[in-house]
Amino acid sequence: MSELDGLKLLRRIEEGVAGKTGDAFFRQIVCDLSGALNAHAAFTSRLLPGRRARMLAFWVGDRYETCLEYALDGTPCEFVYRGDITAYARNVGEVFPVDRAWFEQLGVRSYLGIPVKDETGAVCGHLAVMDTRERDWADADIDVLRLFSLRSAAELERTRYQTELEQANRALLEAKAEAESANQAKSVFISQMSHELRTPLNGILGFAQLLKREGDALSERVRDGLSIIERSGEHLLKLVNDLLDLARIEAGKLELSPGRVYLDELVEHVVSLARVRAQNARLTVHVVTESLPTAPVQTDERVIRQILLNLLGNAVKFTEPGGRITLEARAARREAGTHAVTFVVEDSGIGIEPAELERIFEPFHRVTRTDRTVEGTGLGLAIVQRLVTALGGTVSVTSQKGVGSRFSIECEFAPAQLPEASSLPATEIEGYEGTIRRVLVADDDSDNRTLVARLLESVGFTVQAVGDGRDALECLSEARPDLIVTDLMMPRMDGMQLVRALRGEPALAETPVIAMSASASHYTREEALRAGCSAFLSKPLALAAFLETIGQQLGLRWRYRGASPSSSTAEPSPAPLATAFRLSPELTAELQHLAKQGDIIALTARVDAALGSNDAAQSFREDVRALAARYDIRGIRQVLAASSSL
Ligand code: ADP
Repeated sequence: MSELDGLKLLRRIEEGVAGKTGDAFFRQIVCDLSGALNAHAAFTSRLLPGRRARMLAFWVGDRYETCLEYALDGTPCEFVYRGDITAYARNVGEVFPVDRAWFEQLGVRSYLGIPVKDETGAVCGHLAVMDTRERDWADADIDVLRLFSLRSAAELERTRYQTELEQANRALLEAKAEAESANQAKSVFISQMSHELRTPLNGILGFAQLLKREGDALSERVRDGLSIIERSGEHLLKLVNDLLDLARIEAGKLELSPGRVYLDELVEHVVSLARVRAQNARLTVHVVTESLPTAPVQTDERVIRQILLNLLGNAVKFTEPGGRITLEARAARREAGTHAVTFVVEDSGIGIEPAELERIFEPFHRVTRTDRTVEGTGLGLAIVQRLVTALGGTVSVTSQKGVGSRFSIECEFAPAQLPEASSLPATEIEGYEGTIRRVLVADDDSDNRTLVARLLESVGFTVQAVGDGRDALECLSEARPDLIVTDLMMPRMDGMQLVRALRGEPALAETPVIAMSASASHYTREEALRAGCSAFLSKPLALAAFLETIGQQLGLRWRYRGASPSSSTAEPSPAPLATAFRLSPELTAELQHLAKQGDIIALTARVDAALGSNDAAQSFREDVRALAARYDIRGIRQVLAASSSL
């Protein structure tokens, strides 16, 4: 065949198979091939393992035949698969008795086959034509076949790649599905674990808070003990929350809980916590704040606290005694009204090698040292980075070996918009104005049910308590409660089903329902509100938030201890008592924080621990004790302010 004829034929082949791939391509090829060589039949195959071949397309006369899979041994194709162009001009059925019947059935007497080779030269398929007449195959026929074979080789290669790609994709999808189901299992485990751990914690914290309300009736020893129970419970709760955070981050499920955050207080609080550890390690702590907004910003306080405490914890761990740690918090107001805040944690510690700097944010990466062993998991910075990203911020680090490290975080916060929580602590509430209200409590956990009922009774509600949603529904028409407080997970009828049933009853549709759940996930909160709950609280219930929510739902005016019965706000406190003692700013911050939380027991204990042996502070201590005995938080805050500004 001349070069020109070859090119023309190639063009014809291309036109025929244009846009065709796979089966359609090979069907077109065998049809065109039989036409081009004027042969009765044409077929193409690909090699299978075990010396077998499978037809990809089979054209006989004027139509396609069913493709066959066959053993190569004893067939003319066997020679083709060895790499030879194989031609039989006549009697092909007699030469290959294995296939005689088949050739006879087709009426075929001559055969011409050519291997199809892949890019490495290995035979991966073949192409053959057969004719009903005796035929001395000419070189031109072989040239034509060769061109078809070259074109087929390209398509076979392409389909092989495609199959491999599809297999890889399938494996990837399977791996992804497997990972997702493992993740799903992990999430379920997390939420169940959360429930399991928080439920008993709810009992511990709730009863400690409830007993503390008995105030004066308790001996000092009991009150101190309760304080310890409460603080240990809170500590445990924090640990649980941190662990859950880590698990959630790992499962890609970190969700922020934005609230009103006073950045200046947050910094004070974090520093007061870090200072204890720093002092134990004989390090000095310096704090620099600049232009921090006095109004609250909208963000997740726990996340920022965790970030700063992780960085400060590292600074303490990796700084030799006598060293220095600095926390800087600077803010600048943006035109849009947001605050651009930079937190810096700097230490004069051992520093980090430049090569390590890139890797320290990787999970489980720890710099190996021969000179010192420091406890840690290598997760702290990985969590920090993920948390900062979740806040929409960035974290960076500079460090010099032997000089120190400086971690810097840039974040932007919007001003807070949530309503101000009650500034008066719940421990001071003794009742409410107006008629006695009825509350129905539904919870299958008897400890929690008793806790909620006793708490509500202690502030003057009439309470009926039941163990599940169905019992609640049954007694509703008679009980006619003003408010329903329900757990979400209960047997027989859960909280969601209860509230849906209620919302369908015209007489009860307006009754406010407060849902409580030990699973702190947003999903539950959103679902509860969507189902018709009026408010959602996660367990353990924070006393102040619980009463606050009840007050909002029922439009109550609370009565506070020591306040006149007709007023919902406390009487002005007596003027600060004469206290000629100057408090350190750190202790002031810590005490102000405890006062703001209404934790009078911890506050007096802290005053005694810090100043018990200081004679100059005696009258200050007595003032605080006298005010504490009256639960006069406002008075205590005034004394603190007066003593710190002396
Ligand atoms: P961990 O402290 O639990 O090992 P981190 O993820 O918090 O894990 O830190 C990873 C590694 O980065 C640490 O092991 C330590 O080698 C290095 N590193 C972190 N912070 C500092 C620091 N302030 N000074 C020196 N090295 C640090």
